[in-house]
Amino acid sequence: MKLVFLGPPGAGKGTQAARICEKLEIPHISTGDMLRSAIAKGTPTGLKAKSYVESGGLVPDEVLIEMVRERLHEADCTNGYLLDGFPRTVHQAEALNEISAPERVVNVYVADEKLLDRLTGRRVCRSCANTFHISALENDKVCPDCGGELYQRKDDSPETITNRLNVYHSQTAPLIDFYTALNTLVTVDGDQTPDRVTSAILTALGC
Ligand code: ADP
Ligand code: ZN
Repeated sequence: MKLVFLGPPGAGKGTQAARICEKLEIPHISTGDMLRSAIAKGTPTGLKAKSYVESGGLVPDEVLIEMVRERLHEADCTNGYLLDGFPRTVHQAEALNEISAPERVVNVYVADEKLLDRLTGRRVCRSCANTFHISALENDKVCPDCGGELYQRKDDSPETITNRLNVYHSQTAPLIDFYTALNTLVTVDGDQTPDRVTSAILTALGC
């Protein structure tokens, strides 16, 4: 199955994507994770992307489209893929339709006022990349899953979050209409427990 997860920052796309990929045995392709890893390694893509990612803006379409094109040509994508964080603009969506069009687009809906708290309270594990909310952690420095070190993403600061939400509404939300017109969009309520969101997604996908 070829899937795209759409939704504002903090909607829980990453958490849900990991679960759905395990279940459907398709690779989880997170462009945010790919960019952060490229930045950490200092690759040419990382150098181009750094300032945009840290300020909460969008990395230029050309950079993302090439990165995703290469990734989708790798062998593990023959049975499908789950794209998390791409496309984020109509231009990216048009390019994806030419590379390998998604069969379903899952729109994870969460209202803006809930997102700010989710993002400012988010902590990420350096070892396993799982994310947690501080309200659910006994110790906000140690990963409850693997014991790794938890950190706060640079772009999870309040100023940057406001910018990311504005960018989402102006550049990415138009994709809801784009995919509705193509009859591929399903919307699920992202403001429920993680387990319920997972069930809602599986139901919406007919799995
Ligand atoms: P979130 O969904 O929590 O905002 P991601 O981890 O998906 O975060 O992305 C982090 C940052 O990486 C974005 O704010 C943006 O700068 C960059 N980025 C990721 N995917 C794309 C994309 N498809 N197009 C442009 N920039 C992107
Ligand atoms: Zn961990």
